[in-house]
Amino acid sequence: MIDLHSHTTASDGSFSPTELVQHAAELNLTAIAVTDHDTYGGWDEALRTGEELGVEVVPGIELSVSGEGEKFHLLGYYFERDSALGAALSELQRERANRNHVIIENLNRLGHAVTMERVREIAGPDAQIGRPHIATALMEKGAVSSVQNAFDTLLKEGGPAYASKQTLHPADAVDLIHGAGGVAIWAHPTRAPSERSALLDFESGEALLKQWVEWGLDGLEVHYGAYTVPEIEWTNAMAKKYNLLGTGGSDFHGTTKPTVKLGQVNGGVGVPDEVLDALKARARVWRGG
Ligand code: AMP
Ligand code: MN
Ligand code: MN
Ligand code: MN
Repeated sequence: MIDLHSHTTASDGSFSPTELVQHAAELNLTAIAVTDHDTYGGWDEALRTGEELGVEVVPGIELSVSGEGEKFHLLGYYFERDSALGAALSELQRERANRNHVIIENLNRLGHAVTMERVREIAGPDAQIGRPHIATALMEKGAVSSVQNAFDTLLKEGGPAYASKQTLHPADAVDLIHGAGGVAIWAHPTRAPSERSALLDFESGEALLKQWVEWGLDGLEVHYGAYTVPEIEWTNAMAKKYNLLGTGGSDFHGTTKPTVKLGQVNGGVGVPDEVLDALKARARVWRGG
């Protein structure tokens, strides 16, 4: 069994890349993808540990993208870092850093004395800072009762401290991934825009998927840590209907999302190894052989 969606301390996961791969080895997973938000910063450490422990590490990323008012998460696998995509990522990271400062300023203006220094300490020296880290700092201050409460009252989109960040358009993101020899997968399509929010209905989901197909998508997640039976059925039906790859993983974040277990999707079962074979075959297509 494998897991193609997980986070490390390079973004908002609580396990270091080494700890993540060690955990995968303990669970007897044959392969684990590292898919941090907007960064490949965890790849090298994970690849080294994977070689030591005999776990195949799949290089990946989870990009935040937005189309005409709609936000999505897009997974990219097997792309070359030394590419136009790599350059675009540096720009996205600068955007994210600017956005984080605006959120802290907003919080300070609202009377919450959180500092960027403390948020950086919580995130760790190498992490892409995200709202979950800011939420943790708020919780420490007693300003909110939980990370979820921080989102609900302050940090969610449209919330009083929220600030948006410039993102790639999905079509551009797919082209950049392909141009770098990678494979583009729509993450948790039934949980758009973020994994915390449910899709309104499957009909609008299919309309979005048609857009994605025009944008050049390779596949979608048909396995996911938190999918319910209707979501499993719908995503599989869509993959078949539009001839897309069906991939997936748990979206493991360690203690940041304690209910999600590494390697466990769709209510407890795992992702079979064949999914990785299909993903690799598609990557070979984009690499020109
Ligand atoms: P950021 O990358 O800073 O925009 O933060 C995005 C992350 O925050 C997502 O990956 C989720 O883990 C988390 N998140 C986003 N929206 C919510 C929400 N409404 N409630 C809880 N967590 C959320
Ligand atoms: Mn996350
Ligand atoms: Mn996501
Ligand atoms: Mn994720």
